[in-house]
Amino acid sequence: MKYPGAKHEKITLLYEFGVLAALNSVGGSCSLIRNLENMDKDIIFFNGRILTQAGSGLHGEAVFADSMLVKNGTIAAIGQFQQVLSGCSSDVQKRDLDQQTVLPSFIDGHMHLLLLGQSLRKLDLRPCKSLEDIRSTIKQYAVANPRIPTILCKNWMHSMTPNGVTATMLDEIDPRPIFIDASSQHSCWMNTAALKVLGAETMSDPPGGSIHRDAEGKPSGVMDEGAMMSVIWPFQAVSSSKEERMQSILQAIHEYNAAGYTGVIEMAMDEEAWDSLVTLRSMQTDLPIRIAAYWLIKPTADHEANSKQVQRAIELSEQYNSSTSPDLRIVGIKVICDGIIDACTAFLSEPYAPIGSPPPIWEAEHLASVVKEADSAGLQIALHAIGDGAIKMAIDAIEKHASPGRRHRIEHIELASPEDAKRLGELGLTASIQPVHADPSILTEWPRLIGEERCERAFAYREFADAGALMAIGTDSPTAPWAPMNNLYVATTRKSSRNLEYTKVVNEHFRLGMCESIVAASGGAARSVFAEERTGSLEVGKLADFVLVDMEWEANALLQAKVKETWFEGRRVWG
Ligand SMILES: [Zn+2]
Repeated sequence: MKYPGAKHEKITLLYEFGVLAALNSVGGSCSLIRNLENMDKDIIFFNGRILTQAGSGLHGEAVFADSMLVKNGTIAAIGQFQQVLSGCSSDVQKRDLDQQTVLPSFIDGHMHLLLLGQSLRKLDLRPCKSLEDIRSTIKQYAVANPRIPTILCKNWMHSMTPNGVTATMLDEIDPRPIFIDASSQHSCWMNTAALKVLGAETMSDPPGGSIHRDAEGKPSGVMDEGAMMSVIWPFQAVSSSKEERMQSILQAIHEYNAAGYTGVIEMAMDEEAWDSLVTLRSMQTDLPIRIAAYWLIKPTADHEANSKQVQRAIELSEQYNSSTSPDLRIVGIKVICDGIIDACTAFLSEPYAPIGSPPPIWEAEHLASVVKEADSAGLQIALHAIGDGAIKMAIDAIEKHASPGRRHRIEHIELASPEDAKRLGELGLTASIQPVHADPSILTEWPRLIGEERCERAFAYREFADAGALMAIGTDSPTAPWAPMNNLYVATTRKSSRNLEYTKVVNEHFRLGMCESIVAASGGAARSVFAEERTGSLEVGKLADFVLVDMEWEANALLQAKVKETWFEGRRVWG
């Protein structure tokens, strides 16, 4: 098969080389990447199934065209082959799609770019089944990596250590600090050396978080929620060098292109990640990804300290916005109002069965003032709210203190009441959902924690869509796998994509249709950050960001669908 204008091996090699060149020549520019694809050449893609219309609702239908002309990085024509060809010069390159499906490339509606890049480099404990497995896996890794100063691990699940964990369980493995992220990213387990390097002994619990302690009140080796934001992540970010951070981000971008994404909405931007991103982009101006970021406001009980963080977001958005820097911009603020169900930190209106009612991470009063301040400066607001109590509090805050029409958003929305599901639509809010978090195989603890009856309200996507909320699908990577087709499979079937033998289906009547989920994972995510004029669908005049997919148009077949190529602004960046 011919691949006009695209030479795969070269792309990969030059991409890697571009990374190195960019990192080795601080202040210099790396022009290699820019020549990867000849962007001046027009390319006509024909004999394909090019998605041009995707109907709304559960049974919305798809309309496909046969051919598409890409000119100067933009979609110049779509239609039947002869018709599209008639507008072309004679030297147009032709690409036979061989009946592959062409979709707008994916835009992850909620993810964490630097954390993902860093997590790609961490030791993966996912295959471990027990404490012994965890210990021996880390030991092997420590022996094999004598030079790294800190041992960073990921994907610990509470189910691997049903009797709880302590720092001392890790102390014999290695004298270096060991940090183990829970797969949810809401808790971290560490050894005594790590507690020491953090100075945990003299720390009091940070707002909205906790440092687990032993009977004598000494830190015992686990921190969660607010402590992740204010202690663990900042430590891991600053303890890596800026070069490492830039490399991590590049690795994450590469992974994302490979999965079929050309856009992300980064949901917890901070100084370290932003600084690395801005430098990276100044050295490599054509990074193949469009980034819209929300600035993370860390919870404090001090209005002034909160306001200072909002002011920083405002200042950055004045400098980096859709007119000055459309592909790397600050669009709003992010506030994490509560935690997650599995750790019993999501804020519920009724108590958890085993532990009662923990409070939200933010008090309504403090939340109100940051929402007001950010909204009055024109920023978008993203509120993480998982439990029904937090969802109500978040929607209330936006209803009372923010302007309509700004596409403010609620993140996760895992256990919404029917009334709040309706309000998402009535108030024109974005329902930012991560179907991969609704995977039935990871919800096994829910009935015990909240009871079967409340589980019937879990992940009520259908209600959000029917109420007219703007649907944006994301993955929350690195807390979950980011392959878009797996995510869409859970959205449309409510079955497990992680464990195919797990047959339970979670609230099937809340499922989304094929078209509406594909739209939510592309055009919906674009619209949620006011990028729909440029990208998110295959229309004449929009940027040529698309993927070629081998797929059957059937929800149950989505796990077999394969993204074969990813194109960014008319150049192939993966495949
Ligand atoms: Zn997140």
